[in-house]
Amino acid sequence: MALGVVLHVELNDQVGQRQATGSLVRPFGQFQARAGKQVAKTGFFPFARVAKAKKIKMPDVQAGQFIGFNHRVGRAFDASLNPQRAQQMPHQRGLARAKLTTQFDERMAQGGLCRQGLGKLPGGILVVPERSFYNGEVNSFRTHIDGGLWVSRIQHWGLQLGFSQIGIAGIDLASAEPGLSAWLAQGFQGDMAYMARHGLKRARPAELVPGTLSVITARMDYLPVTTPAQWQVAELDRLGAPAQAIVSVYARGRDYHKVLRSRLQSLAEHIATGLSPLACRVFTDSAPVLEAELAARSGQGWRGKHTLLLNRSGGSMFFLGEIYVDVALPPTAPVASHCGSCQACLEVCPTKAIVAPYQLDARRCISYLTIEHPGPIAPELRALMGNRIYGCDDCQLICPWNKFARRSELADFDARAALVNRPLAALFAWSEADFLHFTQGSPIRRIGHLRWLRNIAVALGNALRVASALPETRRELAAVLQTRLEHPSPLVREHVVWALEAVRP
Ligand code: SF4
Ligand code: SF4
Repeated sequence: MALGVVLHVELNDQVGQRQATGSLVRPFGQFQARAGKQVAKTGFFPFARVAKAKKIKMPDVQAGQFIGFNHRVGRAFDASLNPQRAQQMPHQRGLARAKLTTQFDERMAQGGLCRQGLGKLPGGILVVPERSFYNGEVNSFRTHIDGGLWVSRIQHWGLQLGFSQIGIAGIDLASAEPGLSAWLAQGFQGDMAYMARHGLKRARPAELVPGTLSVITARMDYLPVTTPAQWQVAELDRLGAPAQAIVSVYARGRDYHKVLRSRLQSLAEHIATGLSPLACRVFTDSAPVLEAELAARSGQGWRGKHTLLLNRSGGSMFFLGEIYVDVALPPTAPVASHCGSCQACLEVCPTKAIVAPYQLDARRCISYLTIEHPGPIAPELRALMGNRIYGCDDCQLICPWNKFARRSELADFDARAALVNRPLAALFAWSEADFLHFTQGSPIRRIGHLRWLRNIAVALGNALRVASALPETRRELAAVLQTRLEHPSPLVREHVVWALEAVRP
């Protein structure tokens, strides 16, 4: 059945006699109506008060398909024709009294109102509305977009910029909200108070960035180009050298936030050249964004039992980033899960932080403890941390899918010599100036020198507790710890004292 839509926008008063075109009605996506003279002087909110009720007829669409007509009547309706979604937009912009409804109108569709310019393209339905269609309220249109074609273009540009895969996700993550709420209710986020503070905003892209209609997801492999063939075994072997420090693989090179962000920004600029004006924001682990969920929905991979994303041809050693855009693009299809009956990640986790498949208690995770957690580490967890001083890769190293993890061509992710194959003692000796110097442009810098020393003190304590340690080695490690026994930070002192308990008679 062909469907038409009547869009009824009600604001609060009347439009003035003299008309001026403007984009003052941003709450309705890119809706640009003609505003009165007095409105042009006084700006956005006054406009809302003087706009008159309008009835705007929109051409034939079918729910679930993407239409390209744009943007004078509002991208709010491009994606789903969801009345709730449409209603949400003016309220998000502070127009409490705005009322906006959509309804299907078969008469419109049959009446041939949108006959001209309506046709099918490979990417979906193309609609070029006629000017008269909008009761003369709108005086020009941007060319429709072909969603499928644009997705192909964005993917092409993304690959050129060094991304491994580009996907498109919709913004309705409602089915993820119960899981997120339950996770927060159990306190699994620990000290990451911002997670609780943002609450469900993480699952509502259009609340974080009003006007968002699609999320472009990006994946970038990060294994350094020199990574050997049996790298998982080699990495796990580091655990057998307790006096050597282990820094998580992803953190050995340049800060991925910087690398991804600049490339996402470049991608957004490419898109904006063809879809101007484009409202967008880029993210990479930098805002309340449900990254893995969006990535999974857009076909970047599936959520492994360790909760990270897994890709059949790329394992899990990649970073994620997103671009929120105010253009409706057809989503790319999700993929099936391939964990099967495997439980390897749950079994290998040293702190049992994966409390059940797909459930991570961050408070027990070594990545959280060494990076996010600001205070003292619970004594019962310290002994389980081994020599991991920044992050932990164990659940990824054991995962069979990571034999497909890919090397990055980007030199940014090459490991820095100061951070790999280094004795704990050498890193513990870094002054704050040394720390800042060696971690310049590295993600490690964000934890600061005190947490760095805290983490290494724990690792030194664990090295001291290794039964097979030679007396000479134990004496050396103890001497290293004693250099920080009078450290001004109670946090550092506490962990040094704990570490030295291993050598008490
Ligand atoms: S990163 Fe380490 S501590 Fe955290 S869940 Fe994975 S194996 Fe466990
Ligand atoms: S280790 Fe096994 S269960 Fe865990 S994520 Fe990998 S395939 Fe899935």
